[in-house]
Amino acid sequence: MAIRVITDKCIGCGICVKVCPFDAIDMIDKKAIIKDNCTLCGQCVDACPVNAIVKDEEEVKHKINIEDYKGVWVFAEQRQNEVLNVSIELLGEGRKMADKRGVELTAVLLGSNLDENAELLSKYGADNVLKVDNEKLENYTTDAYAKVIADLIDERKPEIMLIGATTIGRDLGPRVSAKVHTGLTADCTRLEIDEEDGKLLQTRPAFGGNLMATIVCPNHRPQMSTVRPGVMEKAKFNEDANANIENIEVSFKEGDLKTEVLEVVKSEKEIVALDEAPIIVAGGRGMQTKEGFELLEKLAEKLDGVIGASRAAVDEGWIEHSHQVGQTGTTVRPKLYIAAGISGAIQHLAGMQSSDCIVAINKNADAPIFKVADYGIVGDLFEVIPQLLEALDNVDDIVTALKGLEA
Ligand code: FAD
Ligand code: SF4
Ligand code: SF4
Repeated sequence: MAIRVITDKCIGCGICVKVCPFDAIDMIDKKAIIKDNCTLCGQCVDACPVNAIVKDEEEVKHKINIEDYKGVWVFAEQRQNEVLNVSIELLGEGRKMADKRGVELTAVLLGSNLDENAELLSKYGADNVLKVDNEKLENYTTDAYAKVIADLIDERKPEIMLIGATTIGRDLGPRVSAKVHTGLTADCTRLEIDEEDGKLLQTRPAFGGNLMATIVCPNHRPQMSTVRPGVMEKAKFNEDANANIENIEVSFKEGDLKTEVLEVVKSEKEIVALDEAPIIVAGGRGMQTKEGFELLEKLAEKLDGVIGASRAAVDEGWIEHSHQVGQTGTTVRPKLYIAAGISGAIQHLAGMQSSDCIVAINKNADAPIFKVADYGIVGDLFEVIPQLLEALDNVDDIVTALKGLEA
């Protein structure tokens, strides 16, 4: 696609220069000229009073018949043969979309020894599971996975394809979308079906998180999104559900695969699985120092939880960014979220307010965190946390204590 000025029609009014949010139009000799930094947003096309700016559609060879595309697909990502939570969350979201569109929900599972996981996806509500079992797919490689999924899309034409915004998903999504000549909205935090025209409305933070942008893919299919882990609600497990599980045979020609996994070496660096943790104990600027976090660690250890943090604590250098919860950190949905010395700024809440149970500890009774908290403790965290630790010492069974919190 390209944006073009029909020079003969241009009357040099300059309106397009004013509306372009990217400063991508110059006026030369009273004629508008589109610069290389044009993002194809189309605002100038709508604004020009004499229709002198046009959007040239892509080459005909990539034109498609949108009506041919049906169904919602979810890429079922696994690590070491375990289906990731984000894939179950996407099945939950995909189910809603498929029902709204009156189409089927399909999980796409690639790897080796997949029987158990195919059954699992079926129990989590997929109507179909496309099971591609091949030893070359045992470990993820971009070229093998992108080829298999792009070929399946070309053959079966889904209207929507959802992928978790994990390290693998962020690598795979753009490759697949480029191969099948469609767009991709990365890192979505909300997905909806437009009631009027059935298109997928894909919302994600833009401009460093300062505003939320809703993006549509009007002319190409499938509509592809990567979705942040922890944002969507998990699909419900139904023991009696039975999907149509289809075995797909694939073969690779010489030259298809440019990479081969020789060995998998686990990183020695601590990996913070915030999005998978059932219990998170998070600290903010109120922790005051790096040492303050040691107190928090004791509480996390006692509860078998993981440490989270606000951006302020990360910016202070008290803790690594991998622990940051929020709009520019990880989105979490644990069973229990303890927020100590965190004020509850909107960008922090965006990442944790869907937690099942929120306990806030803050010395300021008016702190906004209390608005989303199920339990609030107004007090100095350096007094409250030691008391909590002592109380937990006196409880034989932590689970009993947590049940008490949830009651
Ligand atoms: P503060 O707002 O300074 O709050 C500290 C709190 O600690 C106060 O409520 C205070 O009463 C309490 N306190 C102090 N001492 C004690 C004590 N002894 N005992 C008990 N309570 C005490 N923030 C995030 O967290 N995550 C994000 O992903 C994120 N993304 C952002 C993206 C953008 C584009 C922008 C502009 C901002 C973003 N922020 C994010 C920053 C956010 O706006 C806030 O600045 C940040 O969350 C504040 O962190 P805080 O609550 O720890 O600090
Ligand atoms: Fe500017 Fe958007 Fe027009 Fe490109 S399409 S020139 S970015 S207004
Ligand atoms: Fe020319 Fe249209 Fe731009 Fe006015 S808005 S300068 S007529 S292209």
